[in-house]
Amino acid sequence: LHVFHLDFIEWEKSLRLKGATLNTTGALLAIKNPANASLLCEIPKDTCRSLEKKIERARTFSKTWKNTPLIERMAALRRFDELLKRDLEKLAQILTLEMGKPIAQSRDEIRSTHSRTEFFLGEIERALAGEEPSCQDYHNTEMTEIREFLEREPLGVIASISAWNYPYFVGFNVFAPALLTGNCVLYKPSEHAALSGRAMGDLLHEAGIPEQAFQVVVGDGEQGQALVASQVDGIFFTGSSATGKLIAKTAQERMIRLQLELGGKDPVYVCDDADLDFAAYSIAEGIFYNSGQGCSSVERIYIHEAVHEPFIERLQYHSAAWQIGNPLEDTCKVGPLAREEQPAFLMTQVEDAIQKGAFVLRGGKRGRDGYFFEPTLLANCNHSMRLMQEESFGPIAGLASVPNDQAALTLMNDTTYGLTAAVYSRSKERARRILKDVEAATVYWNCCDRVSPRLPWGGRKDSGMGVTLSVEGLRIFTRTKAWHLRDTP
Ligand code: NDP
Repeated sequence: LHVFHLDFIEWEKSLRLKGATLNTTGALLAIKNPANASLLCEIPKDTCRSLEKKIERARTFSKTWKNTPLIERMAALRRFDELLKRDLEKLAQILTLEMGKPIAQSRDEIRSTHSRTEFFLGEIERALAGEEPSCQDYHNTEMTEIREFLEREPLGVIASISAWNYPYFVGFNVFAPALLTGNCVLYKPSEHAALSGRAMGDLLHEAGIPEQAFQVVVGDGEQGQALVASQVDGIFFTGSSATGKLIAKTAQERMIRLQLELGGKDPVYVCDDADLDFAAYSIAEGIFYNSGQGCSSVERIYIHEAVHEPFIERLQYHSAAWQIGNPLEDTCKVGPLAREEQPAFLMTQVEDAIQKGAFVLRGGKRGRDGYFFEPTLLANCNHSMRLMQEESFGPIAGLASVPNDQAALTLMNDTTYGLTAAVYSRSKERARRILKDVEAATVYWNCCDRVSPRLPWGGRKDSGMGVTLSVEGLRIFTRTKAWHLRDTP
């Protein structure tokens, strides 16, 4: 750790020097280590002036980037993928230091970009290909004389405003397809993942993405707000539903492309025919991975009354493996929370639940120094409790017994969110019957908290609109142009 700290300080000095040439008048953004609340470093925030310059730069360059051959953009992304492999250890340590993710999970997150790169590179030509629709079904004189052609063009300059919990996942899911499809990107990482955001920017430039095509905006909500209000052609936001709704108002007024990936309150239902041991193992991971700071983390667990007691026993057994530790150690499974205020917020949810009849199976209080919260399970929960309604975003879940599948379905849907939902059962048919009526954009049978590059990732209700990933998640960065073509008669 000591050796790494020396490297880190050197690396950070070079960042500061770079930042200082861009912005000499702005305030500094303090980067803290959530594991011990110490100050890691300070970096200059963007000012109105520096942000304006970045937008101007992107606008001026957007035509050049749009006309850069796709093959060159693809080569740069492939090189970026190699650089992520080269710098894996350094990047993982930065991520762990600034947001507290256990180091093994930081490595996994960065590595997960490789399969996404493969997917995007494999699909981009198909996604961007023009289409000549068949006119046979609408045969008439005019249609036979006029050829029709559909073309996809980049949006132009897009703002990507990202959350801190998975900066490589959520950042990459937007900026990689945006750049591939020929858009210039202004990327605003969260203040809790700003160093990782800047590191990604450096590597993209080293990989051959021109500096004007990808620029990092440094700051907090203020800079995010200024970016949203600027002359961009699309806003791609990952974050809380509250901020998403604010952003939607601005985007609506300007009639620009808007994509929102927002919060969740994700439920699972354990049927009476489930493999209880497997379900408990899988669900414990869904609750505690990334210290529960995932939009698709499991936060509500409904258990068929016939297996309520044995399932709880197994969940306690498997959740015992998830213990707080020093996030820089390979064996750590639960790190600190990224935000200083979050342990106190979770405490209020626990107190409210206990007051309304819940009892603590494990945890239920703050951890050691820094922003730790003990992995927590609360039983006998009901929907009058904040714990079962508000997104927790921490290593905590509420459990409730249900008499049958219909009651489980009703409770799963009793939320303003609609991101993911899971059913554990030996019967695919039974799971399908329940999940087809769940109001969520992603559903799982015998698994949870999973994202695939091949499938669209999006939300319903307060969990958002639009998608990333899949072929849809490439095309969302384009707009169509409809050509009607007639030779001179
Ligand atoms: P926030 O909404 O607080 O912030 C998200 C981003 O927006 C940050 O970069 C933030 O900057 C910036 N921001 C804050 N205020 C404004 C504003 N008024 N205008 C423009 N930008 C602004 O969310 P969190 O960072 O706390 O992220 C956690 C949330 O993200 C959770 O609700 C989680 O469920 C959701 N999420 C959803 C995902 C999905 O795929 N559906 C994936 C990952 C997370 P700064 O942080 O610097 O203040």
